[in-house]
Amino acid sequence: MDVKNVKGTHDVYGEEANAYMEVENLMSHIAELFAFRNVRPPVLEYSEVFTRGVGESSDIVRKEMYTFTDKGDRSCTLRPEFTACIMRLVTQNKLYATNELPLKYYYCGPVFRYERPQLGRYRQFNQFGVESIGVNSASADVETIVLAYTILQSIGLENVTIKLNSLGDEETRNNYREALKQYFAKYIEDMCPDCQSRFELNPLRILDCKVEDDKKYIQNAPRIADYLSKNSKERFDEVKALLSALSIPFEVDDSLVRGLDYYSETVYEFHYTSQKGLNYGAVGAGGHYGNLMKEFNGPDYPGVGFSFGIERIVSVLTDDDLLPDVSNSLTAYVMPMDKSYVNSALMIASMLRVEGYSVDLCYEPSKLGSMFKKAEKKNSKYAIIIGENELESSTVVIKNMNTQVQETVKIDNLVDYLDELESSDHECDCGCGCHEDHECHCHEHKEK
Ligand code: ATP
Ligand code: MG
Repeated sequence: MDVKNVKGTHDVYGEEANAYMEVENLMSHIAELFAFRNVRPPVLEYSEVFTRGVGESSDIVRKEMYTFTDKGDRSCTLRPEFTACIMRLVTQNKLYATNELPLKYYYCGPVFRYERPQLGRYRQFNQFGVESIGVNSASADVETIVLAYTILQSIGLENVTIKLNSLGDEETRNNYREALKQYFAKYIEDMCPDCQSRFELNPLRILDCKVEDDKKYIQNAPRIADYLSKNSKERFDEVKALLSALSIPFEVDDSLVRGLDYYSETVYEFHYTSQKGLNYGAVGAGGHYGNLMKEFNGPDYPGVGFSFGIERIVSVLTDDDLLPDVSNSLTAYVMPMDKSYVNSALMIASMLRVEGYSVDLCYEPSKLGSMFKKAEKKNSKYAIIIGENELESSTVVIKNMNTQVQETVKIDNLVDYLDELESSDHECDCGCGCHEDHECHCHEHKEK
């Protein structure tokens, strides 16, 4: 039987794996600049983390969770999102008791949702996101938007549209829900079964329906902007003013309600349509939430955060030819001239690796020419050749693959020799690898 990957999952390798690594590293780096710190909750949680934390009326809890009973008869779930996990982690470990507020955390890892696989939609996908917990203010909301925007700009997605809305406070949402119930009562029988249960559980969620035929009803629904309480309106005005002051472009979209039950006040989404015109859905989304920590018997702290879908980001980067240029390169490729020298090659590679050089070795010695080809294919800067003569005199031949200059060096001196080449190489900024500093006579310099 051919064993294949589970439907809705995908393998990541080669250039794409490099892109994931680059994108995730860059996101983490920028989050660190904004003083967010890394957290790693487990992939597996007790199901109530999500039934309580994400909310019974959300699509995620209603139909998308990978839930099973473990051998100890406990209901466990593969996390479908991170926010509830982080609230559980913060509350359980009482992180609020010993740290200044807001608590600022970022995370990165796989999440699982049983959805219909299609463009930009997997059953296992990766999220990177942040949470800022414990401060209820427009500026904390805006800080997360600025962070997300900075990240998207830095990875090359310049024409991002930020959609912004306010879901208001509890008073706002209660009044608005009533208005929606009255409005949709006339149409609900003609709408999709999902909307029919949303109508009962939380009519706000109807606005997030993705069924084409339902859009005509949703279009003319009452607008939340008309129901915002005085406090919520002031808070939303402050968010908009701050974003404008920081030159962050945004569009107010009052149909934006977000898919999870816990949101209140500021909510936002990041959209980017690739030049090919393919629409993968939002590349990221987030917002402010209250009451979530209380669900885990913690203090009544609000929070704000967003989450990016790494798959969607890598897809639009690929479409628009914006993938970071990461070629897997090596400092040195060690080439034993005979199978019996492979162990020596491994010793030499190990010696260089502990000094911080990236080194690979050839396990299947062949003709020198074909080993040089392998060194080239691996993008190696130097080739280190081990032959009979060399081993007898405890030396190797090291060849600069760029300049073709080669020298015989004592194995004991190899690290110092490479250190010297590499440090003087930095002074020669043409990248020719000739390490000649100012009186460089390499081909590139002669042409200048
Ligand atoms: P959507 O409306 O597209 O279903 P969502 O509101 O369910 O998204 P969030 O829970 O806010 O999404 O997750 C944050 C981000 O994760 C989304 O903006 C998107 O980029 C990504 N994402 C969500 N679901 C999937 C999926 N099934 N496959 C790949 N990425 C996803
Ligand atoms: Mg969804």
